[in-house]
Amino acid sequence: MAQEDVFKKLVSHCKEYGFVFPSSEIYDGLGAVYDYGQNGVELKNNIKKYWWDAMVKLNDNVVGLDSAIFMHPTIWKASGHVDAFNDPLIDNKDSKKRYRADVLIEEQLAKYDEKIEKEIAKAKKKFGDSFDEQKFRETNNHVVETQTKRDALHTRFAKALNDNNLEELRQIIIDEEIVCPISGTRNWTEVRQFNLMFTTEMGSTADGSMKIYLRPETAQGIFVNFLNVQKTGRMKVPFGIAQIGKAFRNEIVARQFIFRMREFEQMEMQFFVRPGEEMKWFEYWKAFRMKWHQALGMGAENYQFHDHDKLAHYANAATDIEFRMPFGFKEVEGIHSRTNFDLSQHAKYSGKKIEYFDPEINQSYTPYVIETSIGVDRMFLSILAGAYTEEQLEGGDSRVVLKLPAALSPVKVAVLPLVKKDGLPDKAREILSNLRLDMNCQYDEKDSIGKRYRRQDAIGTPFCVTVDHQTLEDNTVTIRYRDSMEQERIDASKLHDLILDKVSGKELFRILSEAKKEE
Ligand code: ATP
Repeated sequence: MAQEDVFKKLVSHCKEYGFVFPSSEIYDGLGAVYDYGQNGVELKNNIKKYWWDAMVKLNDNVVGLDSAIFMHPTIWKASGHVDAFNDPLIDNKDSKKRYRADVLIEEQLAKYDEKIEKEIAKAKKKFGDSFDEQKFRETNNHVVETQTKRDALHTRFAKALNDNNLEELRQIIIDEEIVCPISGTRNWTEVRQFNLMFTTEMGSTADGSMKIYLRPETAQGIFVNFLNVQKTGRMKVPFGIAQIGKAFRNEIVARQFIFRMREFEQMEMQFFVRPGEEMKWFEYWKAFRMKWHQALGMGAENYQFHDHDKLAHYANAATDIEFRMPFGFKEVEGIHSRTNFDLSQHAKYSGKKIEYFDPEINQSYTPYVIETSIGVDRMFLSILAGAYTEEQLEGGDSRVVLKLPAALSPVKVAVLPLVKKDGLPDKAREILSNLRLDMNCQYDEKDSIGKRYRRQDAIGTPFCVTVDHQTLEDNTVTIRYRDSMEQERIDASKLHDLILDKVSGKELFRILSEAKKEE
């Protein structure tokens, strides 16, 4: 199935099964804003819990924070967002559609990569075991030619971004013959900068209201609380502050479902270190964050690092963790070395001294910062994309199953009485009451058992427990495993511990603890 079709199916699956709804749908929706339904909110909460536990619970030196969305407007001047939080936009004059110039060029780069990968896959098939990929890359004319074009484009693009050269960005689009996907033409406007921050007013106009910004990242709430947390928590550098919260960006192009939203949620951690030690910690968090993703078991080959071509105004190193979405490898998380830029700027603009006295070296300094920043919604999308599976079954039947990691599944277990009579519903409810305090459960007695299994598969429930007449006699139930569809008869008294062990996330924690020990 073409990847675009997979994506379309995923989007409709999200709606049909109560994961994600377009916001304000009865009023025809609101661009790039979405609501999470009954299953979506559970999955989202589980993702947030996995992140919080891995960052705050697993690390002695990371603590949490929940700062307000509204902040003093000078914060955004100090951080550079008022002047520089821009994206380059370009319009197609025929379709009147707006695009991000940098994204159009990135997609062009990805096309070259795809072309090379296709050639390699073809050759691999042809030559079998004797295939030497390295040699093929170096000697095959088509591959060498495409790679040379790609590298030249990449160099030119990186330079244009770093020089903030908008004319050159446009010229690249013209030279590469990039067309608008809607109109198919190359009739482009100039490239212009567009500030992504939303504004609103605080206070009544009689008092003289104040223009304030909706935060485009949660990080600044952490920086302006650096001294509060460090002092009250008696934190010693190196230490981190973690926060989960809403962020808002007036994105130019808001397609691709929840990948790019105007209101979204971030999970960010700022880790404060001694100046000069930032690269060591940058590498440390890069490795730890990648393990966090891979521990979920969605396939290590589906993740990659992508170093930034253009560093943000505050950074001295930056990389993204990308996941293979149905529309290619895309950023899910950014890891940035932000130097001491933010704390220094806030010291300058607030007139307050923001420093740390390091007793080990008897010196005061402005700490350097490593940031890990991941979008909850993009993580949600990557997990769903990785989990969505269509399977052909024996006998011509088929099923859609979300192979979600058990710790993230919205519903952990469904308890199903085989029939709606003979005391089976009562027995099923008794079993349910023994489980529901420790995990999210569902009770379902409607339709045939096969249909009920399919409904649970479609929302990724890892376990189904069926209660039948034998249960009334010997207290055994049938437990069905989502991925293998195997069934087993076990004593109902064993259910709680067996299921909890698999869904509690302890296994993920064990993998991460091991990873930390290795470092
Ligand atoms: P992009 O290049 O895709 O616009 P970015 O590099 O601007 O992203 P960051 O500022 O590094 O993103 O934000 C950190 C994380 O926040 C991203 O990795 C992503 O997961 C998430 N994020 C950023 N913008 C959005 C958005 N508009 N919708 C959903 N998630 C977002």
